[in-house]
Amino acid sequence: MPYEDLNEEYLNGFEAYDGHEQVRKCELEGGLIAFIAVHNINLGPALGGLRMCAYASERDAVHDVLRLSKGMTYKNAVAGLPLGGGKAVIIGDHRKDKNEDLMISMGAAVESLDGKYVTAEDSGTGEEDMVAISEATEHVTGLPPEVLAGKGFGELGGNPSPLTALGCYRGLKSAAQFKYGSDDLSSLHVAVQGVGAVGLELCKLLKQDGVKLTVCDIDELSLTKAKEELGQITIVPPEEIYAVDAQVFSPCAMGASLNDKTIPQLQAEIIAGAANNQLQKEYHDQMLADQNILYVPDYVINAGGVICVGYEYFRKSHYNPMDFEITRERMVAHVEGIGRNVEEVLTYAREHHLNPGEAADRLAEEKFLGPDGLESTNSEEPPSFGTNGGKTLVQ
Ligand code: NAD
Repeated sequence: MPYEDLNEEYLNGFEAYDGHEQVRKCELEGGLIAFIAVHNINLGPALGGLRMCAYASERDAVHDVLRLSKGMTYKNAVAGLPLGGGKAVIIGDHRKDKNEDLMISMGAAVESLDGKYVTAEDSGTGEEDMVAISEATEHVTGLPPEVLAGKGFGELGGNPSPLTALGCYRGLKSAAQFKYGSDDLSSLHVAVQGVGAVGLELCKLLKQDGVKLTVCDIDELSLTKAKEELGQITIVPPEEIYAVDAQVFSPCAMGASLNDKTIPQLQAEIIAGAANNQLQKEYHDQMLADQNILYVPDYVINAGGVICVGYEYFRKSHYNPMDFEITRERMVAHVEGIGRNVEEVLTYAREHHLNPGEAADRLAEEKFLGPDGLESTNSEEPPSFGTNGGKTLVQ
């Protein structure tokens, strides 16, 4: 049996299980195992990336897919996207075990959910894998522009990193407005950890506003590129970035950079950056608050990428839940709206005496569960996102 839905009794054994809508185990070409988790589809089809990782066990993979798919529900909800949350993982080494046939069979697994889950790239997968997946399903996004070109998709698709950076920039401005009463960044000093795809683009935007920049990276090539493209910047060794005397610390590298060791070193008054899972533990939100540091929740400020692939999906599939035509301009405007989302989260936190991370989670739950925490889809029939279009089917 290539596909099998995991039952509740088994899933109850996982701390990360949250009454997920559906979790499917799939046997792929060559015998590799994948799991697709659909956490919640109240707002629309469950969008979330496909990760390929050499998990030590199937249990580890199930734990990860449960956790990550739930995160996507929250991220998509706060981003104001009519999308639910899902994720997929393949157990395997992406450097050795990945090939086109494997990805086509993954596409067939995605297709088996009839549009309930929409996949995209994540760590261990890339644009070329999405192209292979698209041979077996239309429920895939994040395709390279050359594949979309000439198909009337209106300049959607392509590298989302500059859009992620734009969302961070807008979010940072809102945080400055909240903290200092002005969104003028020109007198600020920002310390940026990681000048890769997103970090460098963010620096370019900040530079235009006259922001003083201090950056670090573990990769010499990234630093050379940053110097070439940004001109006058200060570079510090990676371990010194936390203690830079800047108003803003912007984590744009790896996860868990805010932890017991680094938080006490911070001089910044605002944390606003693109990295995923910045807090190593949940209580680090409180630790930042205790130091009077305003933390902008990562999944709120870094949603530019998912907005970008979400719009690409709305445009090229039969599912357009928006009451307007999907264009690149509309997508960019939605990304710029991250500024308002950050403002909403920070205001909610202040009004409800919550830390920003808790406030973001509450707001997300209000959006996908309704104000009373009740499931908002009460229909007997499960929503279908397949080929009928979403508008009449999704509330
Ligand atoms: P990237 O790999 O292009 O850039 C990351 C940079 O950080 C690299 O230059 C790397 O050398 C550097 N780095 C790694 N470890 C470091 C360390 N300890 N200290 C300093 N620098 C270090 O990745 P990216 O696409 O720019 O993404 C950055 C972060 O943002 C990641 O956490 C990613 O998950 C998250 N994110 C990215 C997007 C996107 O659209 N690319 C969207 C949402 C979230």
